[in-house]
Amino acid sequence: MKTGFLIDMDGVIYRGSELIPGADQFIDVLLRQGIPFLFLTNNSQRTRRDVQTKLQRMGIHVEESHIFTCAMATARFLAKLKPNGTAYVIGEGGLLQAMHQNGFSIVDHSPDFVVVGEGRTITLNALESAVDMILGGAKLIATNLDPSCPTKNGTRPGCGATVAYLEAVTGRKAFSVGKPSPIMMRAARKELGLATSQTVMVGDTMDTDILGGVQMGYRTVLTLSGGTRKEDLNQFAFGPDVIVDSIADLRDVGEFVQTSLPLGNRDDDTVTNFAAWAAANA
Ligand SMILES: [Mg+2]
Repeated sequence: MKTGFLIDMDGVIYRGSELIPGADQFIDVLLRQGIPFLFLTNNSQRTRRDVQTKLQRMGIHVEESHIFTCAMATARFLAKLKPNGTAYVIGEGGLLQAMHQNGFSIVDHSPDFVVVGEGRTITLNALESAVDMILGGAKLIATNLDPSCPTKNGTRPGCGATVAYLEAVTGRKAFSVGKPSPIMMRAARKELGLATSQTVMVGDTMDTDILGGVQMGYRTVLTLSGGTRKEDLNQFAFGPDVIVDSIADLRDVGEFVQTSLPLGNRDDDTVTNFAAWAAANA
């Protein structure tokens, strides 16, 4: 049976700039066996190419097409809402490039959207401009709502914190496209051409990766190599299908899919062959 993987990066493939042991071998197996996969990241800062280079330096050699960021998901979604629209962007290269590639002009007054991503160069001036634009009618869009991100030295404020600031000032609620939003989760599956039952989400964060996968009816694998500990699971009403210490535990992919991933009730599958489906359900 065909299976493909949506794979979170931070806390699953690497921590900061350090490769998680065995992650490179797992990706190698996917490449060699032609198993479809996509890296799914809620970091809008880097472009696909930047991410590809970061991975390459850690010994993981993939194509740009293996990378799907929340910046890409956001820009594609907004381009459908408003082709050739305008945006004021609080964020960096990855988000700016994605917006441009999807036909947006970046402006500094009267935009259709104020789009927020992460970055190290956010100023109070930019936030103040954004407030005026939002109160003037621009829609507040978040690439993701992650409040913070663990770093080598501690914690850095995330996109969600910037968005919360803008929401507090304006009284408007942001619309978010990144994980766990079904918009990004579904777009990723479609990108691989997989059906719901063929899709496995691997991640280290319950609120984004696992919740996103559960909402879509994908099978989910939680890795304990990142921000979540086993005892944290009690806090959640939902849970992953499988828990592993590290993505290295998935190296024997075929066997893992056969023995560890429950098939469950797959009535919610996307119908890819209507004639066959209709015959089976007649
Ligand atoms: Mg992660």
